[in-house]
Amino acid sequence: MAPPRPPRLDAAADEVARTAAAAPDWDSLAAAASGCLACPELAATRQHVVVGDVPVHGRPRLVVIGEAPGATEDQTGRPFVGKSGQLLDQLLGEAGVDRADVAVLNIVKCRPPGNRTPRIPEVTACSGWLRRQLELLGAPVVVALGLSSAKWFLGPKTVLGQVRGRPHEVDGRSVWATYHPSAAIRFGPRGAPRAALAEDLAAVAASL
Ligand code: SF4
Repeated sequence: MAPPRPPRLDAAADEVARTAAAAPDWDSLAAAASGCLACPELAATRQHVVVGDVPVHGRPRLVVIGEAPGATEDQTGRPFVGKSGQLLDQLLGEAGVDRADVAVLNIVKCRPPGNRTPRIPEVTACSGWLRRQLELLGAPVVVALGLSSAKWFLGPKTVLGQVRGRPHEVDGRSVWATYHPSAAIRFGPRGAPRAALAEDLAAVAASL
């Protein structure tokens, strides 16, 4: 007898969206997402579903959203704790924002093998979790780090260099798109992405 087929991803995305929409609070959503199997390859290779960090008390001043967990994040179960996370914390601090007051999320909650770019069906499947997270957090300001995150909010034809540096109104929120800290690291401390990231985070902080 042929083995059972894995579920089609669009059905899995619908299931994620339904489950997420039914979560009454952050802890319920985190518990449900932690066992998510919607993306067969990611579910089979991850160590943790990296649901995201939120402030211990109160609402976040802003929500920062990257692309997907890396190796350190997959090991620890927390977002932005590797080199990119250290740079993000530093630049937020220089802008006058304490990471403890910020919600830190990713578009896709499971690490793609080899840190490949998440595939469109994976982004689609995981979107249900993110949409509900944004509703539950209620933060009016979002920073999209990197092109994948920027495209999620601003559309598939987004060009980062053309949209950064100013807020965009999306679903009642101010969305700022800027470079991912990994790009800032790749181009070095004197590179344009790092300067742009620091400048954009300072502009976001000034807008709060
Ligand atoms: S990436 Fe998102 S949708 Fe896919 S298995 Fe992980 S939590 Fe589920």
